[in-house]
Amino acid sequence: MNRRTKIVATLGPATDDPDVIERLIMAGCDVVRVNFSHGDAESHARRIRLVRAVARELDTDVAVLGDLPGPKIRIGQFREGSVELNVGDSFALIADEAAPAGDQNQVGVSYAGLAQDVRPGSELLLDDGLMSLRVVAVEGSTIHCQVLTSGRLHDRKGLNLRGGGLSLPGVSDEDKQHIAKAAEWQVDYLAVSFPRSAEDMNHARDLLRQAGGEAALVSKIERTEALDQLDDIIEASDAVLVARGDLGVEIGEAELPGLQKRIITASLNLNRPVITATQMMQSMIESPIPTRAEVSDVANAVIDGTDAVMLSAETAVGKHPVRVIEAMGRICEAAERHVQAHIPQRRLTVKPERTDQAIAMAAMITANNVPLDAIIALTESGSTAQWLSRVRSPVPIIALSPNRASLRRMRLFQHVQPLFFPAGLADDPIDRSELVEQALQRALEAGLIEAGQRVILTFGDQIGRHGGTNTMKILKVPAATNDSTQPELANL
Ligand code: PGA
Ligand code: MN
Repeated sequence: MNRRTKIVATLGPATDDPDVIERLIMAGCDVVRVNFSHGDAESHARRIRLVRAVARELDTDVAVLGDLPGPKIRIGQFREGSVELNVGDSFALIADEAAPAGDQNQVGVSYAGLAQDVRPGSELLLDDGLMSLRVVAVEGSTIHCQVLTSGRLHDRKGLNLRGGGLSLPGVSDEDKQHIAKAAEWQVDYLAVSFPRSAEDMNHARDLLRQAGGEAALVSKIERTEALDQLDDIIEASDAVLVARGDLGVEIGEAELPGLQKRIITASLNLNRPVITATQMMQSMIESPIPTRAEVSDVANAVIDGTDAVMLSAETAVGKHPVRVIEAMGRICEAAERHVQAHIPQRRLTVKPERTDQAIAMAAMITANNVPLDAIIALTESGSTAQWLSRVRSPVPIIALSPNRASLRRMRLFQHVQPLFFPAGLADDPIDRSELVEQALQRALEAGLIEAGQRVILTFGDQIGRHGGTNTMKILKVPAATNDSTQPELANL
């Protein structure tokens, strides 16, 4: 597979068949997302087990991303399951846990603080913005509203405040239960929904670490407040997700394309992988082909520099979970052909803070300026591969690691091809020239490079030191292990 951009697919009822999971992975799904907002702990655990079992059978590593619901406000239930509301109708929200089942005149909301957060004139959006209400008056816990958009309102739909400003905590009590489970299941990534600040990310990280979880943390940028603190939130995260669903509701969908570019650029600048999400291939929930607008949307996210594109309902409940991944993969590959690899000017003046970062930049500058076929990184933690992948590379980055958790995590990094390589652990006493030889053989056997090609290899030459990438070599790939007729150094 030549695709650089990674695909995240949400699991759900449409992917519960082991055969579908197998085809999903074969079609090139890199990361599976388990959305803790739907289903129960038992169904989440079952889906994670299934993916891991199938991946093992296919001898590959797929990352699991657990997604916390976060402090999302939802309306309560209706006596009849739903009500029809028309423009101009009076309708009240009761911000009280004990509110009775809803009817034509009112419904409860899950967050008691809502009555303090709104004032007359505030606009409330329901069901991802499909319906909206204008606040007319607030009386105790009762928020009197007037309906601005007609429609049918169903039980438990989400509620957002236009422009943001809700006082909700960053990590809800419900999230804490999910965090404990995520630690137990050892998910690779954990997404935090609706963070307002770096503190919210730090809090989630502390809770996860206390529970024994080692997952990387993903911040979902989906609140107005988060945009004011964007760099701080990104620095407190291991990866970033452009959550266009809720962000579009709060800020207004017209702002999304510009914000998407801003969030992706900020993530790349701060060396974090970034996922672009929500409604990317929405019509394929039903249709066997995407709309032209969806094709352009996915392609533009690639051109913006995203590491990964995400599918939500398209795979979780859609009619064509495998087809949609195939279609998305094709769109990414085609878009990638129109993107020039280059090193942004500011990268050239950045002062590296770490040795592996300095080596990664040196490798990238070389790969951008001399004809080479691949970069091979021997990396235990994956950090060298992460540095390498922050710059759009003209050649694939083959990341060899003996560490399965690192291999899974690297599935998210653009243009990185993780490959299991049992040798080369820091305390492995193997001779370094022997190690280089074995690494080339491994990539050769896997069909990722060919004899005679020129490659860059990065590795740590000091036995016994973790995180020790300090060396870069340019080599010609030999035909076989003991073919000594080939010169080791390519003549550039
Ligand atoms: P969600 O997050 O699907 O969990 O709401 C993504 C988004 O808001 O876009
Ligand atoms: Mn969301």
